[in-house]
Amino acid sequence: MFLERTRKANQKTGWIEVIAGSMFSGKTEELIRRLRRAEFAKQKVEIFKPSIDVRYSEEDVVSHNANAIRSTPVSSSSNILLLATDVDVVGIDEAQFFDNGIVDVCTTLANNGVRVIVAGLDMDFMGRPFGPMPALFAIAEDVTKVHAICTHCGELAQYSYRKSQNKGVVLLGEKDIYEPLCRKCYNEATENDKNNQ
Ligand code: ZN
Repeated sequence: MFLERTRKANQKTGWIEVIAGSMFSGKTEELIRRLRRAEFAKQKVEIFKPSIDVRYSEEDVVSHNANAIRSTPVSSSSNILLLATDVDVVGIDEAQFFDNGIVDVCTTLANNGVRVIVAGLDMDFMGRPFGPMPALFAIAEDVTKVHAICTHCGELAQYSYRKSQNKGVVLLGEKDIYEPLCRKCYNEATENDKNNQ
C-alpha cells in the first residue's frame, strides 16, 4: 500500500506522485485522501483541474462519492505555476486532459520543493495511453495504479469501456456512458462492437 513520505520541518524537498487508473477506480478519492492528510499536517495545499472537466462543479474536485475538496479550474498547465505560489502540496486532478506542458510544470514545482500529487486516467476508452500520463509516470518518484471492478465478471478492471458509439477521445460522462471492464471482458466487448457494426 501507499505510505506517504514525511516532510521534515524546514527541509524543502519536492517530489511527484501519480495516481492512475480507469474510470470508477477511486483515483480522485485517493487524491483527496492524500490531500486531506497534508491539510491535517498543516501544510498549504492547492488543487487544480483542467477547465474542460465541468461535470460536477466549477470549483470542486468532486469524486463520484461526492467527497469534495476545493479546486481551481485552469485552461492551461502554465496557469498552475502562476497560481501555485507559497504552497507545500499541489494536487492535480484529471491530468490526462492537460497539455504536455504539465510535465515540465510538475518538474518545476517538485524542483522548487513542492510535493506534487497527480491523478488521471492512464488509458482512453480505446485502451491507448492518455495524453501526458505516460510522461508523468516516467518522471514521478512514485506511481500508484488503482483499479475498478469489472461490471461483467468481478475481476479487477483497468479499462474504461465506452458503451456509446461516439469515437471522440474526450466524451465526458458517467456510468451512463462508461463501464469498467477487465482485459478479457473489454476485449470481448470491443470484438462484439466490431461485429455489430
Ligand atoms: Zn471481466
